[in-house]
Amino acid sequence: MPQLKIDADLRSIAKGNVLSDEWSKKIYSVDASEYCLFPASIIQVKDNEDISNICKYAYSHNVSVTGRGAGTGLLGQSLTAGVCLDFTKYMNKMIEFENDYVIVEPGIVKAILDKELKKKGKFLPPDPASSNFCTIGGMIANNSSGIHALGYGNTIDFLDGIEIVYSNGSIESLFESYNNKHNSKDTINHVHSTNKINHLFKLFSQDILQYISSKFPKVTKNSCGYRIDSIIDNSGRYLPHKIFTSSECTLGITTLAKFKILDLPLYRSVMVIGFENILKAIKVVPIILTFSPSALELLDSSILNYENMLYNKGSYKFNSNKSGTILFVEFDGDNLVNVELRLRLCREKLCAYGEIIEVTSDKVSSEKIWSARKSALNNVMKLTLGSRKPISLIEDTVVNPEFLYEYTLFLLDVYKQYKLDYVFYGHAGNGNLHTRPIIDTASNSYKHLIKSLTDDVFSKVYEFSGSITAEHGDGISRTKYISKMYGPIIFDLFKKIKFIFDPTNIMNPGKKIIQ
Ligand SMILES: Cc1cc2nc3c(=O)[nH]c(=O)nc-3n(C[C@H](O)[C@H](O)[C@H](O)COP(=O)(O)OP(=O)(O)OC[C@H]3O[C@@H](n4cnc5c(N)ncnc54)[C@H](O)[C@@H]3O)c2cc1C
Repeated sequence: MPQLKIDADLRSIAKGNVLSDEWSKKIYSVDASEYCLFPASIIQVKDNEDISNICKYAYSHNVSVTGRGAGTGLLGQSLTAGVCLDFTKYMNKMIEFENDYVIVEPGIVKAILDKELKKKGKFLPPDPASSNFCTIGGMIANNSSGIHALGYGNTIDFLDGIEIVYSNGSIESLFESYNNKHNSKDTINHVHSTNKINHLFKLFSQDILQYISSKFPKVTKNSCGYRIDSIIDNSGRYLPHKIFTSSECTLGITTLAKFKILDLPLYRSVMVIGFENILKAIKVVPIILTFSPSALELLDSSILNYENMLYNKGSYKFNSNKSGTILFVEFDGDNLVNVELRLRLCREKLCAYGEIIEVTSDKVSSEKIWSARKSALNNVMKLTLGSRKPISLIEDTVVNPEFLYEYTLFLLDVYKQYKLDYVFYGHAGNGNLHTRPIIDTASNSYKHLIKSLTDDVFSKVYEFSGSITAEHGDGISRTKYISKMYGPIIFDLFKKIKFIFDPTNIMNPGKKIIQ
């Protein structure tokens, strides 16, 4: 269908702004990935009625629809050749706040929500490094996490309810407890009044649930495929809203979300430790984990912006040591004695392995340290030199931390074998190392090289029962690897789920399931 016709049609059925100029098309054609896809139409939607009308239109004209937050996705998740719905201009508010939860619109930027919650002594723990830009809608769709996932969990763990617009324009609120209503722990006999949610439930017999639990990665973070391991909990409660976390807009459009929130911890201490090389740093990860830190992060020398990081630079000669690696450990809680004790015991233990560079409980210093860690990916991107770039496909794998040392040895060996430079940073405490090989994308062997490297690395991840993506998602790049990760039975369930929610494949096609 001609683009002008879609723009004109959208103007007649929705209240939001339709952006038809070339600049807007260019801006919305890219995100933080390497891809570029020009949308047929862009609309800054006003409310769920707008979205419902647009979906009805798209459904009847077989046009695809994709939501977009800030476009910070790293795998092309928000890119589309169809209609792009932008929530950031109008649907960006906090709607309801109570002591233990908050309800927000999808276009709210995480840092703005953080600021509002902080005024009330609360917080929503998932904290992507991109939180100054990224939106809650994007975080749900990717199941984002960040530095404090170790102590608190990921977006999926905090999502308590959702309002969704489906591909046919119908709106569903999934806020109440499905289980209190029926007062039944018997998952098999569960009935829900809504067809889609009822059909979803029927996919999960006891046998299938057992199979899922045996097949799903044994890790604390996972954004690969659909999170069917989370929709029926251990006590048999049905939590259908969880299916939308990590679904990358392929099942419906989020228009409201309810999150559990927590009290801000009263005390926080951060310790920075330098090691000669990455293996020496990884070796102590299991030791540090015994002290229950709220964060345990890693940064290698190639991306460390040392000058900007340390409040107290001390005597550490890290800057000149090209193979050095830094770990950041944070302890928090409401009991000062306990926080200080864990910090002291951990520090005493680590003295033998690395150099303690800084220990601080001061807010300004801590924020400075964390902001250095948060700029890691920006610094990685700056390593681009012409066509020689840090490539993202294997950048977000996760294994159980008990295998992290062995897995890192393997990665170093692979890089050596392929004669590649590389960077490492990330969430060592979760076993989620962000790593990128630096490859000349203009070379003839580039495509073959990246495929072969990815096959090697992902095969190792499967061996360790890990996941090929912990938090960044599948997007355009990793969708083709999902079936191999889970195998045919689970992948078949994913296809059935896609069909239940989006039978004509107009919701962000090409992501999660390739038809
Ligand atoms: C520098 C940098 C650092 C990063 N650090 C982290 C990190 O520490 N941890 C982490 O987990 N990720 C990180 N990311 C990845 C990314 O920022 C997150 O995945 C983020 O949550 C995406 O949010 P967004 O608003 O930009 O979403 P977008 O990129 O705009 O979209 C992402 C997905 O969300 C969908 N979507 C958006 N709104 C809706 C809606 N209302 N309904 C349905 N679907 C919707 C889109 O269709 C798309 O599939 C980083 C990215 C960058 C560039």
